[in-house]
Amino acid sequence: MNSSQTLKKIYSSQDPINLKNFQAQVLVVQKGASSQTLVKLLEKAHATKILNFLKQRKFKFKSSAHLTFDLSSSTKFSILVIPQKLTPFSSLELSREVLSSLKTEKSTSVLIHLAPMDSSLETLLTDSFVSAAIALNYLPPKYATPSKKEKSKIDPQLTISFKLSHSRFARVQKLGFAAEASAHKTNLVRHLAQRAGNDLTPEVYVKTASDLAKKAGLKTEFFSLAELIKLKAGAFLAVAQGAPENTSGILKLSYYPKQGKRKIALVGKGITFDTGGNNLKTGSHMFGMNNDMAGSAVVLALCLLAAEEQWPIQITGYMAITENILSAKAYRPNDVITSLKGKTIEVIDTDAEGRMVLADTLTLASREKPDLVIDFATLTGSVIRALGTQYCGGYSNRKQLLSVIRKAGILSGERVWAFPNDSDYGRCLKSDIADIKQCRLTGGVDHIEAAYFLSQFIEKGVDWIHIDLGAMDPEEPLAHIPKKPSGFGVRFGKELIHLTK
Ligand SMILES: [Zn+2]
Repeated sequence: MNSSQTLKKIYSSQDPINLKNFQAQVLVVQKGASSQTLVKLLEKAHATKILNFLKQRKFKFKSSAHLTFDLSSSTKFSILVIPQKLTPFSSLELSREVLSSLKTEKSTSVLIHLAPMDSSLETLLTDSFVSAAIALNYLPPKYATPSKKEKSKIDPQLTISFKLSHSRFARVQKLGFAAEASAHKTNLVRHLAQRAGNDLTPEVYVKTASDLAKKAGLKTEFFSLAELIKLKAGAFLAVAQGAPENTSGILKLSYYPKQGKRKIALVGKGITFDTGGNNLKTGSHMFGMNNDMAGSAVVLALCLLAAEEQWPIQITGYMAITENILSAKAYRPNDVITSLKGKTIEVIDTDAEGRMVLADTLTLASREKPDLVIDFATLTGSVIRALGTQYCGGYSNRKQLLSVIRKAGILSGERVWAFPNDSDYGRCLKSDIADIKQCRLTGGVDHIEAAYFLSQFIEKGVDWIHIDLGAMDPEEPLAHIPKKPSGFGVRFGKELIHLTK
């Protein structure tokens, strides 16, 4: 994983710039700009050349227009026209499109000229370009033996600089660094979610996450199987009992700020591989299930970010780490399990393991009486049938939080659709022999019913939000992310945490 500095420098119009240092220049102007705007912003020699070219190509300054051409044999020039109203999602998308076309052309040192514009647009664009550059720089884990040629080849990494026509560096610089921090955490999630299941086993995952957390100054605590047996966390243990090694458990990470009394608990599903267990998945459904721990990686990423950026909020992260395997000891349909909360669960389908491990982890987290619990999980296929892979699903036990979930999705550019939480969705989970059924056998709206199931394991009086990560594996590029996994949840989670003050 690369964590070198992507944001190189911020220049003001008064600063001398050696344009030879850049393989590409991007000019961002607003819709309605004219050739005159360009003349003011660019070096005289270049402006004439660029204007002639735009004339030849009959370039129109209309919304989202984007054109790249050769300024010289070694320099590209890209012009991007942004609409008057730019959403965070489309800003991320446009930034990715511009930068990825330059990266494909091997123009990796980029100078971005931001025309004078409203400060909110400047904020969006700074964040978007930095985030998109870091997402494009991401390299997936490689297990192939590199050839001699590949060993010496270094993948070119994008670096970007900004030129502003007014003196707003301090602000833009701060925004740029914040965007860098979040974007690297998103890449961390993408990276962990792509590691092979026999590489990132529960044991390795616990160690990797603990090491990163300790390095960041977080306090770590591990609830091992022995401790979970003592706590009577039967729902977590039902899944973990099938795993070949006894290394599963719940990893707790804590960040205590110097100031700030608000307490937020984060909970994440960390199934390092999901075969479905006794309800074994088939080929195409099982392939890719090494990413079933992505929710817990989002929790790790947010805890690291809180420490790095010194959020004035106490953050506790709970990563529920195990695997769901078919083995002699694996739990079965019709088993009845007693959860940590004391509620008995009738097992219907062992492939619905996420809600089992989360049930106990949510009880554990909500017993600390935080102001809010947020969980992240690649939980259901039905959320993908409902929304595709462009959005994630949001759920809460408080109606008033549903609009906050939507807002955080819009502001972060990681879009989340909020689903209803009416209690009649839980009727289908009435069991003849236990307190609750794990799920239905077939049909229904599993994403909403799963959320209802989870809500039953939150301690009384605690606010809770659940995010079903349907957009973790988008088929197409999504916002600033060129290729799955998206690492969805870091941007959204940060926004949500700061919105729910
Ligand atoms: Zn499953």
